[in-house]
Amino acid sequence: MAKVSINPITAPAQSKEEAQFETTLRPQSFDDFIGQKILKKNLKILLSASEKRGDSPEHILLHGPPGLGKTTLAGIIAKKVNGNLRITSGPAVEKTGDIASLLTNLEAGDVLFIDEIHRLKTPIEEMLFSAMEDFAIDLMMGKGAGAKSMRLPLPPFTLIGATTRIGAISSPLRDRFGFVSKLEFYKDEDIMQIAERNAKLLDIQIEDPAKKLLAQCSRRTPRIANRLLKRLRDFAHHKDTENIDLKVANEALECLGIDSIGLNQNDVEFLSVIIEKFQGGPVGLSTLSAALSEEKETIEEIMEPFLIQLGFLERTAKGRVATERAFEHLGLNKKISPSLF
Ligand code: ADP
Repeated sequence: MAKVSINPITAPAQSKEEAQFETTLRPQSFDDFIGQKILKKNLKILLSASEKRGDSPEHILLHGPPGLGKTTLAGIIAKKVNGNLRITSGPAVEKTGDIASLLTNLEAGDVLFIDEIHRLKTPIEEMLFSAMEDFAIDLMMGKGAGAKSMRLPLPPFTLIGATTRIGAISSPLRDRFGFVSKLEFYKDEDIMQIAERNAKLLDIQIEDPAKKLLAQCSRRTPRIANRLLKRLRDFAHHKDTENIDLKVANEALECLGIDSIGLNQNDVEFLSVIIEKFQGGPVGLSTLSAALSEEKETIEEIMEPFLIQLGFLERTAKGRVATERAFEHLGLNKKISPSLF
């Protein structure tokens, strides 16, 4: 069976070129950060209260699917508190020496952003505990019987952790964050507003109906909206126009294999396997992973959240179930589901 390879439009990871493109479009202030109203309001309160007290803001844990704005918010917060933003990620910190070096190089008021914080190794997590709580770390000097522990004080800083898997974070680590919040998928109106702003930055026009279609196809995720906008711009240029109208948008999305509600070929394949091979489910994650030749993590973190949001998929105690809506969308009959396999 063909392996479901993650579509470049919906993939969570960024290439170098995309990282540069994202920097161009990344909002630099709360005013430019669209949507997530409640989270924004609570963050503003947190920052203004700590400013009045003359403290660094409490440590912040942001969770939610990729591309919803966790890194962007860390940048906005660092700017707001006039601190440097230091960025790393769980897998990049391999040894306790790496985290000790990051921590001891911080200046007062800096923001340390750790992406994929759920992937930190236990000894590194343990070093973070005292850094977060006491602004100090204990380092072992020397080896063997003569080894001594030395406490190194750190300047006050704010740790911002980001994760797509809140459940994978140990409770001692989670408990050390004073502010924990989830980023929600965006409303279509918010994505339209993001597209409007970014079209101006990219020097291209996009008409309202095309903007609406782009929003419907963006999986409620700004990163995907930005990628699509870039593709639509390429398509418009290919057609020798600086204006993205509905026709251009429709043609471009068709070329990308994205349907009117944002499903790509991977989604269709994923749902088809549940429906046609497992009669709509329930089917366990491991079985699905084997049937699709796809990592369980990728299925859980990247493929499923949007399908659940659309009401196409349910996670039950017995496994994944494709809903009536999914059957309807794919034009399949729930009772007579012919097997493709
Ligand atoms: P995450 O860290 O959650 O994976 P990012 O912060 O890297 O996501 O966001 C990806 C891109 O999406 C950013 O470069 C930015 O251009 C855009 N983006 C994210 N959130 C917003 C928002 N609320 N308003 C406008 N653009 C956003």
